[in-house]
Amino acid sequence: MGYETARFTSANIDKDLMCPICMCVLEKPVETPCEHSFCEACILQWLQTRRRCPLDNTVVGTNQLCEPSRLLTNQLGRLEIACDFRAEGCTERVPLEYLAAHRLKCPHNPRPGQQPRTADARAAVQPRQGRPAYHDQYEDDDIPSGLEAGLAVGAVAMVGAAIGAVVGGIIDYKRGRNRTHD
Ligand SMILES: [Zn+2]
Ligand SMILES: [Zn+2]
Ligand SMILES: [Zn+2]
Repeated sequence: MGYETARFTSANIDKDLMCPICMCVLEKPVETPCEHSFCEACILQWLQTRRRCPLDNTVVGTNQLCEPSRLLTNQLGRLEIACDFRAEGCTERVPLEYLAAHRLKCPHNPRPGQQPRTADARAAVQPRQGRPAYHDQYEDDDIPSGLEAGLAVGAVAMVGAAIGAVVGGIIDYKRGRNRTHD
């Protein structure tokens, strides 16, 4: 279960930062092989009965869930959220990445030094593997994850050809534009 949107300062939270299952802001997000992100607790519960991604029906095993991209983690971490103890009187708003640290020292925490929620046990989650170091910067240019395993050289060649066609198209487009400027 994610964080209620009402706790955030921003009125318009990016759809990519929301869990499609609980419709809240992602809490401890994990990514499926089909590159969809969910709260870890939400997708694990979903997969207990349905073994497919709720968005595109891709077959997903619980052992295939991995850490989300750093891009998503960073975006999520910057969202300003109200403290868990606002009902106890805390008016603090902190970036989500500092929420856990704030909870520990919050003067309104009825049990200081203790996390009100479950600890960060992420046993089911795989680290992101085979991602080049520059992955986050070039997120959109990335090869689809299924190909990263190096399963099909032919498929990679096909993707290469497709990229070539797109690049060719862009060059043609630019040439066309240049011509209009001449
Ligand atoms: Zn969720
Ligand atoms: Zn999916
Ligand atoms: Zn607080």
